[in-house]
Amino acid sequence: MKTVILGGGLAGVTLARLLVEKGEDVVVLEGEETIGGLCRSREEKGFTFDIGGSHIIFSRDHEVLAFMNQMIEQNREQRERNTKIFYQGRYVKYPFENGLSDLPPDDRFFCLHEYILNLIALERGDLPPPKTFLDWIYYTFGKGIAETYMVPYNEKIWNYPLDKMSLHWVDGRVPKPPVEDIIRSAIGIETTGYAHQAVFSYPARGGIASLIDAIADPVKDRIMTEFIVRSVKRTGNTWTVSDGTRTVTADHCISTIPLPILAPCIPDIPREITDAIQSLVYNSICCIGIGITGDVPPVSWMYLPEKNLTPANRISFPSGYSSFVSPPGHSSVLAEITYNAGDAIDLTRDADLTTGIIASLEEMNILKAEDVRYTTAARSRFAYVVYDSGYERTIATIRDYFDAYGISLVGRFSQFEYLNMDGVIRSVLDYVKGR
Ligand SMILES: Cc1cc2nc3c(=O)[nH]c(=O)nc-3n(C[C@H](O)[C@H](O)[C@H](O)COP(=O)(O)OP(=O)(O)OC[C@H]3O[C@@H](n4cnc5c(N)ncnc54)[C@H](O)[C@@H]3O)c2cc1C
Repeated sequence: MKTVILGGGLAGVTLARLLVEKGEDVVVLEGEETIGGLCRSREEKGFTFDIGGSHIIFSRDHEVLAFMNQMIEQNREQRERNTKIFYQGRYVKYPFENGLSDLPPDDRFFCLHEYILNLIALERGDLPPPKTFLDWIYYTFGKGIAETYMVPYNEKIWNYPLDKMSLHWVDGRVPKPPVEDIIRSAIGIETTGYAHQAVFSYPARGGIASLIDAIADPVKDRIMTEFIVRSVKRTGNTWTVSDGTRTVTADHCISTIPLPILAPCIPDIPREITDAIQSLVYNSICCIGIGITGDVPPVSWMYLPEKNLTPANRISFPSGYSSFVSPPGHSSVLAEITYNAGDAIDLTRDADLTTGIIASLEEMNILKAEDVRYTTAARSRFAYVVYDSGYERTIATIRDYFDAYGISLVGRFSQFEYLNMDGVIRSVLDYVKGR
């Protein structure tokens, strides 16, 4: 029995490894020159950048965390998270609700007062249950925290109206500290939110790609790169996958490639399913890596809610994750900008975007333009799944179709879910166990 796996990102290579460990025969078809998908890294001039956005290793799932850490055990750095929100020139501790004492007094009062008014309204049953993500933000945090941070930041990262987003996904994803912690933090008592991420791992050398390489190592000979899947056909129990010139046949087919790429590969896919897939919402990302001489702030990463300051929604400082990802005496910054086809960021050249980002970082006193020694830019079309209000119904229809057709969907844009690396590996483990 042979299995063809479409896509060689984290999902594809982990599937290959675990299925081979079970004694199965597999082939992975990856369209790019290198494996890794969103977890690819670029090493140039002594700097290493994760080109699909800054990646750290953390999880609540002990089995998965142990798997990831074990893969890079000989190449592992561990750090304590020191994450901030840049707000009106200040560094506010993350999560925002755990950092209220870092705000100017008027903003601190606004956030705490509105939070308390909101709690009273909730107790009295005066607030209708939230229906959208926007409602949920106000319902959970009150107007102060909502308008100071949660709404502007989320509008920036999702690049989608928050009142058109569903809220089924927020539990466990959006930090939601207990009432006591919010009050403690507002009056200046130290609290730690989102504790399962308070300590994280990162590869000492090679960036996050080295995690993928370590997973893929025993199955390297089963991976075909530069094989862009263009057609996937089923004849009885045989799958035939082709890139237009080469053909691979197998008894099982697992797809880890994004649904909007898979759909046109299937010749007899019903119109209703293509339409459903086309209606799924996602955004893209442009990542700009900047290498400088000298130091950057001793911060892991920083959220940037202010729209007028910079188009980036987050910057990270990879040189703080490991001492081997920038040359001695140098540091690095990685800026992430989400966008959609046809918008202003999409239409801006990488070079212009880079110049603009450097100028905004200079304005924030993060770096000086004269210290910049290296820059790199990369775009990923599929970055974040955006849960719009129709998502749950649409995805159920799509999954029913693929179940019946016989293609298993595993991975972030194949399941079309907001899965971090741990969620992807969990899906792979569950798939392999259930087979
Ligand atoms: C900005 C950002 C930051 C993140 N940070 C973290 C983090 O800190 N920690 C964490 O745990 N997770 C993080 N993640 C999530 C993590 O990147 C994903 O969970 C994971 O990489 C998804 O792996 P995948 O294999 O499912 O998908 P992908 O990485 O998208 O892999 C799909 C693969 O399919 C290939 N492909 C596509 N079309 C074809 C085709 N036609 N033929 C052949 N191959 C094809 C692609 O080239 C790619 O290699 C982050 C994601 C983003 C966007």
